[in-house]
Amino acid sequence: MSVQELIDISRLYGSNPAYVIAGGGNTSFKEGATLFVKGSGTSLGDISAEGFVKMDRAKLARIWEKEYPHDEDQREAAVLADMMAAKQRGEESKRPSVETLLHDLLPFTFVVHTHPSLVNGLTCSQDGETAARKLFGETCLWIPITNPGYILSAAVKKAADAYRVRTGKPADLIFLQNHGVFVGADSIEEIKAIYTKILAVLDQKIARKPDFSGKIGVYGDSADIARLLAACAGQNFRVAFERNAEFARLTGTGADFAPVSSAFTPDHIVYSGSDPLFITIDDTKGLPEQVRDAWKRHLDKTGRAPKIAAVQGRGIFGIGTSEKTASLAIELFTDTAKVAAYSESFGGPRFMTADKIDFINNWEMEKYRSKVVEKP
Ligand SMILES: [Zn+2]
Repeated sequence: MSVQELIDISRLYGSNPAYVIAGGGNTSFKEGATLFVKGSGTSLGDISAEGFVKMDRAKLARIWEKEYPHDEDQREAAVLADMMAAKQRGEESKRPSVETLLHDLLPFTFVVHTHPSLVNGLTCSQDGETAARKLFGETCLWIPITNPGYILSAAVKKAADAYRVRTGKPADLIFLQNHGVFVGADSIEEIKAIYTKILAVLDQKIARKPDFSGKIGVYGDSADIARLLAACAGQNFRVAFERNAEFARLTGTGADFAPVSSAFTPDHIVYSGSDPLFITIDDTKGLPEQVRDAWKRHLDKTGRAPKIAAVQGRGIFGIGTSEKTASLAIELFTDTAKVAAYSESFGGPRFMTADKIDFINNWEMEKYRSKVVEKP
């Protein structure tokens, strides 16, 4: 067991879009008193030894003995400070993953956390918890929707401790509602076996897979609409466009768009926003006014510019401060469409709640992460 194995398994899942998109997910390895955990702002797909932060496990364990302020912002700041102080010498310039505490508390040599679309079809569905128990039995833990950071780690700790008392074993498969999955094992072979099983079981259960065929980057007046949206967004904004079979279906009417009209997970919020804008188009009326009016109404309602505009009869527009962030918005929206389609097999989609969405929109850590991605 070695750091090299950690690098190998991180790259394996990090470069597979079925598991990880946009640098999401994180991994760790424990060796004696040291936890090697993915650094914030690094991507699993091309990670090297420097991408991991060496943490002092004794110092991390001490975090659980401390009392933190009740106020959310104060608490997260205090925990972050203690986490930064738990870095080993020589790691000063790095920032450990926000899920570090969670990695440390699972008593396995390797922990691999990802956000696979198939898994999120389950974790972002109405009957997800019941379906998870039916499909994976008592071997899995289900954690209800929780704000990320310390609060999530505390919720998992409580559930994992109870699980251990109940079963005599540590929990090695943990589903996080509206987020993803944690898998732990003492060898990378076991990690792979658990993941292969999860995805095979879910794949077999999914009744409808979305159809992304017929992908095109220009359709009818899409270039005009892209220019109008860029003008609404402001100077230096870029707009990307995509139409495919699934996007054509989703942009039929407002009702068709409903299953993808909000956010499923924190990653979706960070890259494609929490409030995609659906623009109804009346072809007998002028296009510019309709786009501008819809944009203005959206701003008035949400206080935020959209990162995704779905235009009736056209397709999906991604809006960002660079070509890269504009296409990332579409990439994450594509994942939203997958999650929505898969969730149909588990009672239909279930978005994050409004308070959890607000938390992410205001979260300092996520701002940091999206800023890292926006760097050229
Ligand atoms: Zn995560």
